[in-house]
Amino acid sequence: MNKQQTKEKMQELINKINHYAHAYYVQDQSIIPDGEYDALFHELLALEAEHPDLVDSHSPTKRVGAEPLDAFEKVEHEIPMLSLGNAFDAEELKDFHRRVTSGLEVEEVTYVCELKIDGLAVSLTYDNGQLLQGATRGDGQIGEEITSNLRTVKSLPLSIAETGRLEVRGEAFMPEASFEQLNKEREAAGETVFANPRNAAAGSLRQLDPKIAANRNLDIFLYGYGTWEIENIRSHSARLEKLSSLGFKVNQEWRKCTTIEEVIAYVEEWTEKRLNLAYDIDGIVIKVDNIDQQEQLGFTARTPRWATAYKFPAMEAVTTLEDVELSVGRTGVVTPTAVLAPVFIDGSTVSRATLHNADQIRALDVRIGDTVILKKAGDIIPKVVRVIEEERNGEEVPYEMPETCPACETTLVHLDEEVALRCMNPNCPAQLQERLIHFVSRDAMNIDGLGEKVVAQLYEASLVESMDDLYRLKEEELLPLERMGEKSVNNLLQAIEASKENSLEKLLFGLGIRHIGAKAAQILASHFETMEAIQQATYEKLVTVDEIGEKMADAVVQYFREEKVTHLIEQLRSLGLNMTYTGPRTTNEADESAIFSNKTVVLTGKLEQFTRREVKEIIESQGGKVTGSVSSNTDLVIAGEAAGSKYNAAVELNITIWNEVDLEAALEGVTS
Ligand code: NAD
Repeated sequence: MNKQQTKEKMQELINKINHYAHAYYVQDQSIIPDGEYDALFHELLALEAEHPDLVDSHSPTKRVGAEPLDAFEKVEHEIPMLSLGNAFDAEELKDFHRRVTSGLEVEEVTYVCELKIDGLAVSLTYDNGQLLQGATRGDGQIGEEITSNLRTVKSLPLSIAETGRLEVRGEAFMPEASFEQLNKEREAAGETVFANPRNAAAGSLRQLDPKIAANRNLDIFLYGYGTWEIENIRSHSARLEKLSSLGFKVNQEWRKCTTIEEVIAYVEEWTEKRLNLAYDIDGIVIKVDNIDQQEQLGFTARTPRWATAYKFPAMEAVTTLEDVELSVGRTGVVTPTAVLAPVFIDGSTVSRATLHNADQIRALDVRIGDTVILKKAGDIIPKVVRVIEEERNGEEVPYEMPETCPACETTLVHLDEEVALRCMNPNCPAQLQERLIHFVSRDAMNIDGLGEKVVAQLYEASLVESMDDLYRLKEEELLPLERMGEKSVNNLLQAIEASKENSLEKLLFGLGIRHIGAKAAQILASHFETMEAIQQATYEKLVTVDEIGEKMADAVVQYFREEKVTHLIEQLRSLGLNMTYTGPRTTNEADESAIFSNKTVVLTGKLEQFTRREVKEIIESQGGKVTGSVSSNTDLVIAGEAAGSKYNAAVELNITIWNEVDLEAALEGVTS
């Protein structure tokens, strides 16, 4: 880029950032995801660092937030309320540490790590123990006076036992549950919904009528101070404790860290745990603990040098909807899938996302060619959450669901009150193949070497149409097929043969009975023990089984009533498939003697003797529950090789930790 082009690029970034920042800070709206905004901001910062001569003095990198609205009284902050510098990975945290240690000319520094609450920064002034004034951050120097709105936040004390003048700072936020409730009510009333809890909190506090804020169930965590007339408290951690003792709500997850490695471990721990919180956090704030050191380091125009914010990897990204593809599931449900321009999000490249059904497409008003926001939350499949309408150029094409099945052209129908469209043709080739894919899948018959492609190949060669056909396959039929050498044919036939020995629940799940997932199949198989008993079980008998609901019971009875099903089971039996339960004995839930009875267990690291799946099955069969992350509700952590942050969290929370030897010892006599 030559100078002119660089200048133009910088101006383009400034215009975009100003546009998005105005919407965000003034109108409490997020047009694009925060991660996208941060990326633009970073790009501008990098260009400015490279070309200091081209820096515009009005650049958004020189400013905090936005100017206050005229509708409110203005409040001048005695000490500016700044933004925070950002770090996006461990290296950038180490860079921050290097800057701090070299600025202070020391080797070691103590930090305080806190959760970065995703809300709205506010300042609260108390004088002689009484709440005098509450204000927004505004542009950092001047904020908006919103005292009456802040008074409605129930957790905020209106008076405190401290005589000096105290200006405390914190984050007002809307808990997840209040946010969902509010949006539900707004939707029902035909009002626009808020994009996220942060916008909802900001929108609620910047209302002229305090009654609105009062109804919004806002909350507040205090984490800092402006003017502080309790001079003898000279560490941030002691000030947090003082805030707590004065009755302020302080987030109790803060931790003192004496090395940057400890800081990184805290960040890793919360990267996992954040999804379990009842409120949104968008990162971790790391602050130098010692106030003298903070003062020594000072500020830049926008940010303190003694603190930084680690930002979690973005869960949202912007991409383009290139097409919509339809797939027919094993029960005939036709699902539209978004085909997207590949985009990197939370550690992986995503190019497809479910659109669920026609109603969802209509609700999103998503069109082919649209720029869309994609969201990933935890291990949930990515979702298209919103269209960025202002990116439309008029060439986008609305998508209509077809009237007939894309695989067999049968007219699609809506069953009962369902939103989903279904193909009711029992011989629809797509459904037949999907049923086979399900039958051989890992949680079902677990036949190695039978992936989607091979199933399609066998189906197209007319070798397999139904589950029992698999057990009649012969070497000479398979050998002529493409990519089927002698070895792979033998392996495949052996895997099919071995699957005959599977315990009953695998077969039961593999049949693909409506509403019967792997867990229900396990419960039914261990309760009834034989296929025959399940076939003969009445609705009344089925509903008495713990965890088997009415829908499930009904589905089981209906399924086994079909003559075709009876025939299929007979065929499978005569082909030598095991029809009895051979899995671990399920201990009665009330059986307090079960090893993991009522225990919540977390697995971490790699075990030598067991796969995760096996350990999970054992724990569940022994009355326990396996969850993904360590919290105060965890009873036990089983840690294998290379256990990481979950292990550290367990140590921190004083949770019992077992290694593999402990596990084996406990299981002695149970699994054999
Ligand atoms: P920031 O979010 O990077 O960090 C500063 C803020 O963190 C403080 O003002 C305070 O409100 C908050 N905070 C929360 N917990 C804290 C704690 N424990 N200790 C100290 N502070 C804590 O800075 P910013 O200037 O408020 O906003 C910039 C961010 O806003 C961007 O990084 C971007 O993600 C978002 N933004 C998004 C858009 C958009 O269009 N989506 C537009 C503008 C800004």
